[in-house]
Amino acid sequence: MYPRVIISKEKLISNIQYLSDKCKNDDISLMGVTKVYSGYMPILELFMESKIDYIGDSRIKNLKKLTDCKIPKVLIRLPMISDIRDVVDYVDISFNSELATVSELNDYARYKGVYHRIVLMVDLGDLREGMLPKEVEGFVRAVMNMKHIIIVGVAVNLTCYGGVIPSVENLGQLVDIKNLVEGMINRKMEIVSGGNSSSLFLLEDNAVPEGINNLRLGESIAVGRETAFGKKIEGVYDDVFKLQAEIIEIREKESIPKGELGMDAFGNKPEFVDRGVRRRAILAVGKQDVYHEDLIPYDEAIIILGSSSDHLIVDVSDSNKDYKLGDVIEFKLTYGSLLSLMTSEFVYKKMI
Ligand SMILES: *Cc1c(COP(=O)(O)O)cnc(C)c1O
Repeated sequence: MYPRVIISKEKLISNIQYLSDKCKNDDISLMGVTKVYSGYMPILELFMESKIDYIGDSRIKNLKKLTDCKIPKVLIRLPMISDIRDVVDYVDISFNSELATVSELNDYARYKGVYHRIVLMVDLGDLREGMLPKEVEGFVRAVMNMKHIIIVGVAVNLTCYGGVIPSVENLGQLVDIKNLVEGMINRKMEIVSGGNSSSLFLLEDNAVPEGINNLRLGESIAVGRETAFGKKIEGVYDDVFKLQAEIIEIREKESIPKGELGMDAFGNKPEFVDRGVRRRAILAVGKQDVYHEDLIPYDEAIIILGSSSDHLIVDVSDSNKDYKLGDVIEFKLTYGSLLSLMTSEFVYKKMI
């Protein structure tokens, strides 16, 4: 059944193991981030059986599926107030930057007679989520009055939005903040989380500041890349996942459309390269599943021409292979293509 994503179980296990060992060597705990798998159970089970220290996901719907999970479950996106009950009921630790949200968590935890653990998210320049460093003291003081909330850590997220590169300076600032919080609440922080896959290069360079004790890795586990400079990581597979899509039409056609040209289905004015008459294949997968810019054909002679909602058009003229109707073409995936393919309900997933 196509289109489908083929997942190599062996390679994924190896990636988790390798990066987990790498962190352990530096006394850093690993939060395996699973959001890109969109709640696909065979992969989540694999994470649950692995040696990671925490499972992090941005969607509560995915975390809810992890029943009988011995590894602490962490909601790494700030909770919605409308989700408060689920957060307390299904999540061990949540990341927070809004006092009003924490107050709601406290109210519900008190009502249930339980405690809820939180990590304080601090913005150190990337301008996505997080309280500003100068707000931390007031935030902690307020939380100290919420008897059903336990602060277990501090964290920063870098690079994802603003492109800010993790450094000795900004992560050093996180350590200063950790010290401030520990001084106020008189307890050691279990989690001092120095970022995501973009912080991995610091580990490689032995430059993670003393005091940082956790990393949250998603992309590096899934597609074997660090995300500060986009380099492939030694020892980690970059081909755990591949897309297979089926040819539903194949014939010779001109490379330039005929007629007056307006906008395409997505409001863009497409541009065309005139290569003359070419052998073109149409594959049954489209923008509803994946953006073609994020696909890399395994057959290097294939040129991706474009796509619409349900059709991916490729030029196979230069290939040594004689493609026929019904044949399957394979693509290597980036983080972006993996994310959307795993999310599409029209794409089959198969772990082998
Ligand atoms: C997605 C995410 C991660 C993981 O990032 P990668 O670049 O995939 O390693 C870590 N922390 C937070 C808060 C995230 O949203």
